[in-house]
Amino acid sequence: MNLKKSNNSKNNNELSVYLDPKFVPANLQKFCKDLKQNQLDEKSFLKKSNEIDIFLTNFDLDKLQMNFFLLLIGKRLYNFCDTGNYNLKIYGGDELQKSNIILGWELEKYKFQKFKTVTTKEITKSLTLIPKDIKNKKEAYFFIRDLINSPANILGPNEIYHAAKEHLNDDYVCKKITGKKLEKTFPLISVVGAGASKKNQPIFASFISKKKNKKKIFIIGKGVSFDTGGLNLKTGIGMSLMKKDMGGAANAIGLAKLISRKNLKVEVNLLLCLVENSVSDNAMRPSDIYKSRSGKFIEVSDTDAEGRLIMADALSYASEKAPDLIIDLATLTGASRVAMGLEVPSFFSNNIILSNLLNKASIETGDPLWQLPLWQNYNNQILSNHADYKNIGNGGFGGAITAALFLEKFIKKKIPWIHIDLMGWTRPNKYSKYEGGEAMGIIALSKLIDYMFK
Ligand SMILES: [Zn+2]
Repeated sequence: MNLKKSNNSKNNNELSVYLDPKFVPANLQKFCKDLKQNQLDEKSFLKKSNEIDIFLTNFDLDKLQMNFFLLLIGKRLYNFCDTGNYNLKIYGGDELQKSNIILGWELEKYKFQKFKTVTTKEITKSLTLIPKDIKNKKEAYFFIRDLINSPANILGPNEIYHAAKEHLNDDYVCKKITGKKLEKTFPLISVVGAGASKKNQPIFASFISKKKNKKKIFIIGKGVSFDTGGLNLKTGIGMSLMKKDMGGAANAIGLAKLISRKNLKVEVNLLLCLVENSVSDNAMRPSDIYKSRSGKFIEVSDTDAEGRLIMADALSYASEKAPDLIIDLATLTGASRVAMGLEVPSFFSNNIILSNLLNKASIETGDPLWQLPLWQNYNNQILSNHADYKNIGNGGFGGAITAALFLEKFIKKKIPWIHIDLMGWTRPNKYSKYEGGEAMGIIALSKLIDYMFK
């Protein structure tokens, strides 16, 4: 009988992550001593046969950044480990922190290979136990990534609508408005999408949860399937990522599905503004003036500030229903990225209790969101000489704020409202190899909705 232990054993590998030094066994304590503060390097990993120890006892970050970092750790671990089954044990940290490591690992498995004739082989690296909640989050992320990564030649407004319908069919009743009816009832959505070909005509879509409740929330997504900038045409570089301009809608659909899995005491309404912002003889022109759904006249000062136009009509519609909460998600401004970088979406709110709750949800989950002010003294920047408002501020300063102030004009006073300005795209870094469309803010928002309606 051969008693020698094989390296290729089908047994599980043991993967131990130490977040708290008090759990590190005495014989391994010496490895913790040399670790540099807030750094993950080769000294953090100890590997012998099928046992791997990871020491994260040297981190002293605020809770939001630590929780975000644990997601990155999960991604890094996935890339570090060889093919095999892993029995993951995490020592220290709370349940959400532990689950962020597992979620990070699972997210790193994602590949978008629909358009590759030669695909990379699936590498089987699996954890022995994935809780249901993490599977749901992963499903939301993968759906959102797939949708954003799909190019505009195969994913126009109608295809986004159908993808949403298929994804949400079990839990939501859907309908859409197009053509003449759209022109009458959602004039700004109609106008922004007017430059596109017939195949890509603009759509307003609504999805209402089958579960009814007196309390209502509205989740609104900006779905610009491609943004050329319109007649204020973008540069080549500026246009290169513009298939992601439906990232708000993708995230809104993912969020709607994620929260439908919970037993919430609220009716969920998802609204999607689906357009392609194109150049043609039907395209809106700079200086054109249109009457919005709310009745206010809007001067289109810049055809590339189209997102806030389509969102305005959807926000008016949501406000008419007097809901308990409105959340909108949009890849709205480059200015938000200039201020916050790619990883941290900015958020705005007209309600201090709500913004405190969202901050709490962001910190607890490690899903970053950072508040910027609805600075009322900048309102004069969006006043138009020839109409009620114009769709862009003066001079380029505070562009994320003036965009949010524009949206606020269409929210009926006192309806609690959150506006998220997100990138919807991620780049590779030392923890993750993935580049492409990304879910942002949905885990924090889902937590916020738990706080309010569970
Ligand atoms: Zn634009």
